[in-house]
Amino acid sequence: MIIYVDVDDTLVRSFGSKQIAMSATQNYVRKLKEAGAKLYCWSSGGAEYAQNYAEMAGLADCFIAYLPKPQVLLDDVLVQNWELQQLHPNECRSTPGDELLDRLKETR
Ligand SMILES: [Mg+2]
Repeated sequence: MIIYVDVDDTLVRSFGSKQIAMSATQNYVRKLKEAGAKLYCWSSGGAEYAQNYAEMAGLADCFIAYLPKPQVLLDDVLVQNWELQQLHPNECRSTPGDELLDRLKETR
């Protein structure tokens, strides 16, 4: 299972200069890692920004690599035809982690 994880408003929420950890998502990332998922962290703020935040959050060991978010894809398969599912961070708050893991496994 290959999973790309966003930073802003996914792992952390910013209020002005204050940053608040989104602990439900962070705990879920840890669960995914323990379940054997291959995790990458990406951000429109860039790879370095993503890495800095992951290190600050104590999640650096969960991620294989850090990437900027793409603005263009050069690919023969349209994104809507990818085998891709999207989880919203709110689902990490409202759904038990094991249930989310099962849902991801079922659709593979
Ligand atoms: Mg975001």
